Amino acid sequence: MERTFVMVKPDGVQRGLVGEIIARLERKGLKLVGLKMLQVSEELARRHYAVHEGKPFFPGLIRFITSAPVVAMVWEGREAVAVVRNLLGPTDGAKAAPGTIRGDLANDIGFNLVHGSDSPESARQEIALWFRQDELLDWENHREAWLYDRG
Ligand code: GDP
Ligand code: MG
Repeated sequence: MERTFVMVKPDGVQRGLVGEIIARLERKGLKLVGLKMLQVSEELARRHYAVHEGKPFFPGLIRFITSAPVVAMVWEGREAVAVVRNLLGPTDGAKAAPGTIRGDLANDIGFNLVHGSDSPESARQEIALWFRQDELLDWENHREAWLYDRG
């Protein structure tokens, strides 16, 4: 099983979409293994988005992410990184297909509600950046017996 880092961004919290976003990930069958609400510091924002440093949208992105609380989560499941990225849809909400979280609920390239790790390697880095080991729970989800055909 794979783990991925997901964050409901300030626009998602402000718009009251935390429950909707969590519900969509739960319904897909992903397992929640860590969750916390926090006001992101400038330092954490810069580290999380370090790959985008120098791009024109970077200062605005840091201002956005630190502007109001976020909900940070770790979700687990088969191919969780790719599965979450598919559920989110592409970055620009105006272009994302209906059926995706961004396609259904966002209409902007910056204010796009939610972050999901883009590879297993960045998932590992982001989980380590946002969560301590003892904040992540290893628990048995009995629903998985009916979710995955393990032959
Ligand atoms: P993601 O992996 O789909 O979240 O997209 P990226 O990693 O490319 O960008 C990180 C975040 O920066 C996006 O989710 C947006 O919030 C923001 N962003 C990316 N590209 C743009 C842009 O062209 N303009 C603005 N305003 N924000 C952007
Ligand atoms: Mg990204």
